[in-house]
Amino acid sequence: MVKQQTKRLPSWLSRPIGQPSKLHDMKNILRSRNLHTVCESARCPNIGECFSKPTATFMILGDVCTRGCGFCSVDKGTIPLFVDPLEPHNIAITAKELGLRHLVITSVTRDDLTDGGAAQFALTIKAVKDTIPSISVEVLTPDFKGDERALKIVLDARPDIFNHNIETVPSLYAKVRPQADYKQSLQLIEMAKKTAGGVITKSGLMVGLGETSDEVKSVLKDLLNAGCDAVTIGQYLRPSIKNLEVQEYISLEVFKEYELYGKEIGLKHVYSGPFVRSSYNAEKTVIRERYTCA
Ligand code: SF4
Repeated sequence: MVKQQTKRLPSWLSRPIGQPSKLHDMKNILRSRNLHTVCESARCPNIGECFSKPTATFMILGDVCTRGCGFCSVDKGTIPLFVDPLEPHNIAITAKELGLRHLVITSVTRDDLTDGGAAQFALTIKAVKDTIPSISVEVLTPDFKGDERALKIVLDARPDIFNHNIETVPSLYAKVRPQADYKQSLQLIEMAKKTAGGVITKSGLMVGLGETSDEVKSVLKDLLNAGCDAVTIGQYLRPSIKNLEVQEYISLEVFKEYELYGKEIGLKHVYSGPFVRSSYNAEKTVIRERYTCA
């Protein structure tokens, strides 16, 4: 792996800011319907491009997370938040208004809810598919503490893609994802593949947090063995001063090496690059599965 000695932003990590009027329009729509996106809450570097398209990743179940992952800038809290019964409908009509062909739904982690928020995922999938029958829906879920019943509630609503991010290598879990468990996350993906025939399984990880390239490759093998079809790999960028520092800026060559390695071992889809995020250009996976089986 090419080590970057400096923590200054390398030249390949600059991003266009997008069209301000389109950003403004999208934010107005979201505020008017009390909707949240991970794009804003996690300070995603692709927000200018995605909101200008326009597309977004809707974050259901509020904007306060019951866990405290070191990499994530979503607000943390333990006070149970109201679950908005209008949220599924509001997401559906917004997706229709934006003309989306593929929708990604994620959530904060709701350890305070008995089903971890699975029912709200299911209601949202249903509302979106009822409103736009041709749309494909991808869910990017929390781990539901490994609860198979919660997973089944989500899968019974028939998302096209089940995505659960492994986030990092096992040796960094205590630092990056202290309330999660690497094996449990793998098992969730495995259960999804076995439970829902035909669902595309997907996961993602961030690099630049101090992992080695051997560790990344080992995670790719674990994901393959868990039945994962698609993997995203992107550069971790510190969203705020309160979050973990970047340990390394991964070179473009190394991103390519991960992509080639993943494909070589048998993963169907590997998206690897500095600005790749789980939901970045997410419709690509569905298009490739349906039309080319690449
Ligand atoms: S990559 Fe995903 S999270 Fe980031 S702005 Fe685009 S849709 Fe939102």
